[in-house]
Amino acid sequence: MARFIFITGGVVSSLGKGLMAASLGALLQARGYRVRIRKFDPYLNVDPGTMSPYQHGEVYVTDDGAETDLDLGHYERFTGVASRQSDNVTSGRIYQTIITRERRGDYLGATVQVIPHVTDAIKAFALAETQDLDFVLCEIGGTVGDIESLPFIEAIRQLRNDLGRGQSISIHVTLVPFIAAAGELKTKPTQHSVRELASLGVQPDVLVCRCEQPLPASERAKIALFCNVPKEAVIPALDARSIYDVPAQYHAEGLDDEVLRAFGIAPSGQPDMQRWTDIMDRLANPEGEVTVGVVGKYVGLPDAYKSLNEALVHGGIANRVKVNIQWIDAELFEQPDSDIAARLEPLHAILVPGAFGERGAQGKIASIRFARERRVPYFGICFGMQMACVEAARNLAGIADASSTEFGPTAEPIVGLITEWMSAEGLQQREADGDLGGTMRLGAYPATLAGNSHVASIYGETSISERHRHRYEVNIGYRDQLEASGLVFTGLSPDGRLPEIVERPDHPWFVGVQFHPELKSKPFAPHPLFASFIEAALKQSRLV
Ligand code: GLN
Repeated sequence: MARFIFITGGVVSSLGKGLMAASLGALLQARGYRVRIRKFDPYLNVDPGTMSPYQHGEVYVTDDGAETDLDLGHYERFTGVASRQSDNVTSGRIYQTIITRERRGDYLGATVQVIPHVTDAIKAFALAETQDLDFVLCEIGGTVGDIESLPFIEAIRQLRNDLGRGQSISIHVTLVPFIAAAGELKTKPTQHSVRELASLGVQPDVLVCRCEQPLPASERAKIALFCNVPKEAVIPALDARSIYDVPAQYHAEGLDDEVLRAFGIAPSGQPDMQRWTDIMDRLANPEGEVTVGVVGKYVGLPDAYKSLNEALVHGGIANRVKVNIQWIDAELFEQPDSDIAARLEPLHAILVPGAFGERGAQGKIASIRFARERRVPYFGICFGMQMACVEAARNLAGIADASSTEFGPTAEPIVGLITEWMSAEGLQQREADGDLGGTMRLGAYPATLAGNSHVASIYGETSISERHRHRYEVNIGYRDQLEASGLVFTGLSPDGRLPEIVERPDHPWFVGVQFHPELKSKPFAPHPLFASFIEAALKQSRLV
């Protein structure tokens, strides 16, 4: 039977709980255990799919088409275990399930209540599909003390009892702030937070203390005394140089040892850290550096492009170069006096990422034109591919009104709404004016690549599967006109109806993809498109 690790946070949010869970998962895996990491989000949205990236960062999409919290991206990048719909649940989804059942009459006249109905649903979610695992890590979003997270903490309390002795532990991640005026680290917030958690019936076994300064032994002992945990189980967590240093850093502080001890397992030997040492070495000792410009819309919040940022770093790991990313607001290029060339000339490569809505689109099209004409490596992802097609249509194929129906009715829908497509489950259909939540082409879809294409040589194969999240598609009806202008359709859905990849054979590196390759890239297995893109940027850096 799988053992469960419940992870809560205290004092403040943004303590890197997700990264801690991902790193612990990686460490347990490096000791030969089978792990899966799950996230419980206390908000009332059914999923983060309809939330603005400014609110909640990137929406991470799984193979099975779930729109999930960005922490699932960390889990997957650190463990290589593909996340599933069943790995992320929100209060909204739990209530939706319960209310649907209630309306159907499934509760047979009972009063439906938070305890036991909501807590039972949370417990069922935690326990589902865990047969073949050694450890299940469950991260609870939010901060202990929030009204919203109470049912989740209560479910943990019950589960710890249901599972029986030795089958679960609780890890609490807190902050030990440094008060400059006093010149001291303060443990009181941690004491209060643990007291709050304990008052809900959950006593932590391991405390992870985020701090900006090394935690002296005396403070560690004080936390242990007041919080009722062994001194060794008070794990200091200082800021890391790179997120990929975090697993090794936690190992050095004894996190995996203490977790095993809390389960009554004597840690034997050391985890195999080869994978992480190699990544850290490549990041710490780069042999060159490139600068990539990302021309986007949500550039004020790096979390909005979390996976993209990481995939570019992975491309650097593959080539042993440091990747500097310049986040450029596409709207800048829509001002009449903007000097696009001055802004883009110093860059070694340009990327236009996924986006929704018209804002910034003209600035992106102008950047794509620059990349095409100046022969600067260009990578278009989802919206970035769609706009590469509009750019070619307008500026090369002579279709002056070329547009996307996402921006309103148009006589030349180079990009259009599709309401029917084939998926593994059969024909999918949508209403043009249907719900916005969960109704896009979502999750893994196969694509067939032209044998002699640049992308086939990059992938080293002609059948691929990549994750999607979009409502509109490039209109295959314009294929001949676009190909005549030099933009070739080298990847299609297996039925040949949906363009998946376009590229320019006459350009050093110009690829647009309808899917999101960044979601599958890992530091120990950089995505081939990102590895190749950064390689092209490196070549470009030698020219400019
Ligand atoms: N807005 C576009 C669509 O819905 C592109 C989406 C995206 O880039 N993820 O098709």
